[in-house]
Amino acid sequence: MAYHITIIPGDGIGKEIVDSAVAVLKKVDGKFGLRLSYAFKDAGGTAYDKFGTPLPTDTLESCKASDGVLFGAVGGGKWDSVEPALRPERAILGLRKGLGLYANLRPVKVADSLTGYSPLKPDLVRGVDLVIVRELIGGIYFGDKCESEQHDGVERAWDLENYSVPEVERIARLAFETAKLRRGKVTSVDKANVLATSRLWRRTVTKLAESYKGIELGHLYVDNCAMQLAVRPTQFDVIVTGNLFGDILSDEAAVVGGSIGMMPSASIGTSTSLYEPIHGSAPDIAGKGIANPIGTILSAAMLLRYSLHEEEAARAIETAVDKALEVGFRTPDLWREGFQKANTDEMTKAICERI
Ligand code: NAD
Repeated sequence: MAYHITIIPGDGIGKEIVDSAVAVLKKVDGKFGLRLSYAFKDAGGTAYDKFGTPLPTDTLESCKASDGVLFGAVGGGKWDSVEPALRPERAILGLRKGLGLYANLRPVKVADSLTGYSPLKPDLVRGVDLVIVRELIGGIYFGDKCESEQHDGVERAWDLENYSVPEVERIARLAFETAKLRRGKVTSVDKANVLATSRLWRRTVTKLAESYKGIELGHLYVDNCAMQLAVRPTQFDVIVTGNLFGDILSDEAAVVGGSIGMMPSASIGTSTSLYEPIHGSAPDIAGKGIANPIGTILSAAMLLRYSLHEEEAARAIETAVDKALEVGFRTPDLWREGFQKANTDEMTKAICERI
């Protein structure tokens, strides 16, 4: 047992939050004897400044040769005037393409101690523990498109939604496998009352479910799912959906959780997978040492679970985060009267001490 991880801090608060996650990984490594090794690589604006490209070949090659990638965040006003093809955010698209990242997993779990931070009533969010599995490299975002054409003197544009059976099977299989590690319930979300691609999606998911006997499968139209996430989010375990619907639903679900700094994500690839918090580089607080590191720390836990299959170590991190929150540690984004104010380092220490 020995694993190699590529670490990409990126820009803004990226270095601060990634340093925290590495400290936590070192702590679990010491406890569980994982024998982790690390390669630190540049991407985003930092890489553009050094090498003239947001995604150096060396970074991509290091990712490909790793068991998993931990990514901070990229971007910032400093690079606003850089030509679009070289902007920091292009590093993310390059990594998606280069690593074949076909699925995005976003867990939303609301700790009991944080129910008051959700815009929904505490009673509605208590016990929320769901994962959105979004298809990431197909559907309308990647179909043929036309920016502008003339029809009888009228300008129009169009985008083509397009899914194949193997594409749907691949993402549905991941959703069923994810549900096996959890409460065994999958909700497939589509718009099968209107869209042909959704009808193919629903047929394919239903057929695949026959080989997952222990899993309970349900279907929801996307408009109903958007409503149910606000009305009764505790009903969901795993939600699986296409690229466009997943983009919208995963942001809605993240808000249910209350704080952007707390949310991890995984982008699953055909070989190497990438793990990152859902937030950006937060230039407004970069360098102040006050960023909430929990989204990145929980992303590291996902790396242990999904790429290294080290479930016990992943749970140890998640439990330590819950405990640090329970005893009252709060970074400034979450701080309220009566709690213990902690900067990035203090929160990291509070979590490490509980592993
Ligand atoms: P953002 O997520 O960086 O920040 C939004 C707000 O949330 C800010 O007030 C910020 O201070 C706060 N915030 C975010 N993460 C936090 C944390 N860990 N702790 C405490 N507060 C936190 O979004 P933005 O301001 O729209 O974007 C800033 C830059 O990040 C832009 O250049 C954008 O393109 C980029 N971005 C990158 C990614 C990525 O790397 N995956 C994702 C989104 C945005």
